[in-house]
Amino acid sequence: MQIFRQSRRALQLQRHLLRYDFHRGHGFRYASLLHQEGYIGGKWVSALSGKTFAVTNPCNGKVIGHVPDMDEADTKTAIDSAYEAFQSWQRTTAKERSILLRKWYNLMEENKEDLALILTAEAGKPLAESRGEIGYGSSFIEWFAEEGRRIYGEVVPSPASSKEIILIREPIGVVSLITPWNFPNAMITRKAGAALASGCTCVIKPAEDTPLSALAIADLAEKAGLPPGVVNVVTASRSNTPAVGNVLCTSPKVAGVSFTGSSAVGKHLYRLCSSGIKKIGLELGGNAPFIVFDSADLNKAVDGFMISKFRNGGQTCISSNRIYAQSGIYEKFVAACKEAISKRLVMGDGLNKDVNVGPIINQSQIDKVEGIVNDSVKLGAEVLMGGKRHELGGLFYEPTILTNVSSEMPCVKEEIFGPVAAIQKFESEEEVLKKANACQHGLAGYFFSQDYSQVWRVARRLEVGMIGINDGLISAVEAAFGGIKESGIGREGSRHGVDDYTHIKYLCMGGIN
Ligand code: ADP
Repeated sequence: MQIFRQSRRALQLQRHLLRYDFHRGHGFRYASLLHQEGYIGGKWVSALSGKTFAVTNPCNGKVIGHVPDMDEADTKTAIDSAYEAFQSWQRTTAKERSILLRKWYNLMEENKEDLALILTAEAGKPLAESRGEIGYGSSFIEWFAEEGRRIYGEVVPSPASSKEIILIREPIGVVSLITPWNFPNAMITRKAGAALASGCTCVIKPAEDTPLSALAIADLAEKAGLPPGVVNVVTASRSNTPAVGNVLCTSPKVAGVSFTGSSAVGKHLYRLCSSGIKKIGLELGGNAPFIVFDSADLNKAVDGFMISKFRNGGQTCISSNRIYAQSGIYEKFVAACKEAISKRLVMGDGLNKDVNVGPIINQSQIDKVEGIVNDSVKLGAEVLMGGKRHELGGLFYEPTILTNVSSEMPCVKEEIFGPVAAIQKFESEEEVLKKANACQHGLAGYFFSQDYSQVWRVARRLEVGMIGINDGLISAVEAAFGGIKESGIGREGSRHGVDDYTHIKYLCMGGIN
């Protein structure tokens, strides 16, 4: 076990988690990654007010730690630190930044298991999925360590022989990164990797439910040698979050904001950012259509359904939400989904080896899932399986299939964010496209078809930013992640991921004889 150099409270957290883990027989060495303080200007700090809030394990409701409940004053300090650090960080070379990011990536890989355990402890995510998320999360640091060296400018043919036109790319400055609880690691690295590689510095505001993963990432940033102030983490409770968010979006020292979370909060932050004309990246809610055409390979469609619906218990913004099966395959598909759920899903504590569906993150989310199911049933939906809280109690909700579903039901109109599949029957391609596109959201979509022409037709016409074609798992660092309509602005990952963090400066070089 590594030497633990944190406060007494951190020691208690370590002991608690050791106990938590000991019972389940896991190897354990993540003590030095556990922090119960924020990270500002290269220092581990309490809130100026001294206040804290509790972090609980959604699996059993137990408190696993306390972190500072920071407010406007702490946030301003963090922005000041990031602003000061930006003055020198922006002048480092792309290669210098790349070397540091690579060190950060290597440390994440070395500490993969420990990061995964922390993630499972605070988010309830099954351990295998947490490991997957850590690998996905660190891949963004690796990718942007490489991509940062290829942020090229342009020399543009000039209309005048006395002038040269040159476009260079520059980092925009301090960026605020506001992230959700459903991917406590990867949503941070996807933003911070791109920001730092571009030459920006950042203030991260993790979700209230999952601050420990963010602090562990900051710990490794520090160990990698990232200079003080380049990465800052401000933790805040639900009640302090709006005030913190306000400063993060309106401070004159902040150049841009990147947010992943709900549409309602995204719209609010967009409004806040308008006052200072901040650059903004938004990755908001989805309501993904999942379409199975008659020509589909049934087994592939069921596999795609299982992964896109039940990964993270349905709590991802690209989870399939509105499921449509064509009349010729509908009965077979529904029966196969029911069988797959019964045979493949095991609910429980994410640390248990066989478990692949954990709890819903918190009380308000499970209440919401329950409300969506109950209100849909009142409108005529039929419960084929599940439809209620799980006998495990607490925040566990049974994997559910609803049939006899129609467009006006909440299970179709709203993003469910839970292990609930609402399946509708359709007759024609035209009909299903109309239904799938009759939605203000446009993040991800999925469809299964073996008809080559249909694949192109539907891929072109589905109004979403990303499509899984005969595939239910689309996330990859190499691909551009993002939505259209009310699902967001901008793209993360891929070579486009740096666009939000850079601007183009035009140099007009005249007087050339
Ligand atoms: P979810 O439904 O996934 O919890 P939220 O949009 O509520 O999504 O939360 C995503 C992130 O946005 C979290 O870090 C949360 O603390 C933050 N957040 C929520 N409300 C605000 C706000 N008014 N200002 C800034 N951040 C906020």
